[in-house]
Amino acid sequence: MTVLPDKFLYYLLLTTALISPLFAVSGPAPRISLLVDATEAPRKIFHARMTIPAKPGTLTLYYPKWIPGEHGPTGPIQDLAGLKFTANRQTLNWRRDLLDGWTFHVEVPAGASSIEASLDFISPAGPGGIYTGGATATDRMAVLSWNTVVLYPEGWSADELTVDASVRLPEGWKFGSSLAVASQSGSEIKFAPVSLTMLVDGPVIAGQYLKVVPLNPGQTPPVEMDIAADSAAALEPPAEVWEHFKSLVTQAGALFGAQHYRDYHFLYSLSDHVAHFGLEHHESNDSRSDEGALVNPDKRLLSSGLLSHEYVHSWNGKYRRPADLATADYEKPMQTDLLWVYEGLTTYLGEILTGRDGERTPEQFRDSLAYTAAVLDHRPGRTWRNLQDTADGVPSMQDAPHRWESWRRPLDYYEEDELNWLWVDTVIRQQTHGQKSFDDFCRLFHGAPSGPPQVKTYTFDDILNTLNQVASYDWRSFWTERLNSHGPGAPLGGIEGSGWKLVYDDVRSERVRDREADRGEVNAAYSIGLWLRPDGSISDTVEGMLAAQVGMGPGMSVVAVNGRKFSPGTLRDALREGKTSSAPLELLVENTEYYKTFKLDYHGGEKYPHLVRDEAKPDLLTDIIKPR
Ligand SMILES: [Zn+2]
Repeated sequence: MTVLPDKFLYYLLLTTALISPLFAVSGPAPRISLLVDATEAPRKIFHARMTIPAKPGTLTLYYPKWIPGEHGPTGPIQDLAGLKFTANRQTLNWRRDLLDGWTFHVEVPAGASSIEASLDFISPAGPGGIYTGGATATDRMAVLSWNTVVLYPEGWSADELTVDASVRLPEGWKFGSSLAVASQSGSEIKFAPVSLTMLVDGPVIAGQYLKVVPLNPGQTPPVEMDIAADSAAALEPPAEVWEHFKSLVTQAGALFGAQHYRDYHFLYSLSDHVAHFGLEHHESNDSRSDEGALVNPDKRLLSSGLLSHEYVHSWNGKYRRPADLATADYEKPMQTDLLWVYEGLTTYLGEILTGRDGERTPEQFRDSLAYTAAVLDHRPGRTWRNLQDTADGVPSMQDAPHRWESWRRPLDYYEEDELNWLWVDTVIRQQTHGQKSFDDFCRLFHGAPSGPPQVKTYTFDDILNTLNQVASYDWRSFWTERLNSHGPGAPLGGIEGSGWKLVYDDVRSERVRDREADRGEVNAAYSIGLWLRPDGSISDTVEGMLAAQVGMGPGMSVVAVNGRKFSPGTLRDALREGKTSSAPLELLVENTEYYKTFKLDYHGGEKYPHLVRDEAKPDLLTDIIKPR
């Protein structure tokens, strides 16, 4: 949103520096111009026109396929339409590559020194598509992800290519972005020239209702929130909300001790009609949640952790990146074996920051941790699939359905590694008799010197070496065991080492109630192994637990409980009453138009997770989430 002259100068210097070693043999790296017409964003269509330097012959162009932070070949090629190439006012022949659908070969005629390309990106209307390929526009707002509207030529890295990008917005819309602005004329914004890497790293949020909130006024580097919503009212939460986000900036600064951005923008979309996710960038994050995520306290609690997670990625993921995720362009496949650091450690740090910045009370933090631990404590899928495989397999598996989650075991490297990194934190504290903590690792690994975005890669051994600099321990054996374990049960060493125990009782925590209300979910997972919707349809079963053992599965519907029509309350009452009765729980279930009664010999009552204090051990957890 703000034009920073010094940043503009940096871009010019960067552009000059981009004249690469290839210059001597192949001429300067191409400079591409790109105009995106977003005036039809409310129709969910974005029009792009590009000028790309070219020589006569076959020009190979790529549509970005492996999108940083998405961990897979997720570039939304199915939503690319209207592709057309011209040169010297002549329409050019093109053909898609037979082995890679994201690659196009264009015939450039004699005498042409550049081509014009035009294309449309059709953003999904309604569900469908993931991440930047998901729904991105409403009647009142949009997020422009540059990877969805750009083609780039073969032969150059994304760092070497320079793009002069501009965007035309619907009349009256305001915008925010980490990209430096060169000029603005009405609704058309010209950005300063930038490498393709930093363009894709700098999405633009825009909307009729857009609020800019400085989070560290008067300090450098500046940090602000640029929030677009489907209503003006969604942008007016109580003042404490801004205080928590300001505190997030302070607490992250204290944790890492340095920044790797020139200025930072939280681009936050509040809409029930865009895809909900968070995507990290060096100098911004594209986070999208419900329209009520700021103003409704329950929704605010449920979305807490999203912004802190994406902010942490500026240090862990963007600045420090696994070597085999740091590819030169968007065509080369990424190897995801170290996502347990990239995502798992980010999850741990993002979660503890919600305690340090006040977004969550200590009890809310513990409820959330207990919830995570309970889900992972009911993961029979670990018997066939170790944690390492959940990271290795993600490029091909991340769009898997939610059904059969306990057996399929999809993205556990996020949350299981929250538990593992907590374990690491407690071991450091024990080994150093409280002299050091995981904060010391962060300052060594992610900290000084501060500066503009850069990528510093690492390997597994770099992680072990840095851990050993903080506290001497057999970290290789620790991580080898954690990554290859087949259970049983979740790794609870961190919770137990920090002075707490995971228990189950019949009291639904605020976390469980909020999630049930928000998702229309009934959680009977830890009693009989069932996740249901309020109408009785079974969204999932926990493999190996009682409901699955007697023959129930996702896709079926519970019609009646002990002879009475299903409702969430009826099921909860029946579970409670079963504790003092010897009669089995009788569930009448419909499956593909057939009805069957299942009898579950269950008498354990309702079960929901909590953490309770273990007085035999010091309470490290409370210290871990205390503000610095
Ligand atoms: Zn992440």
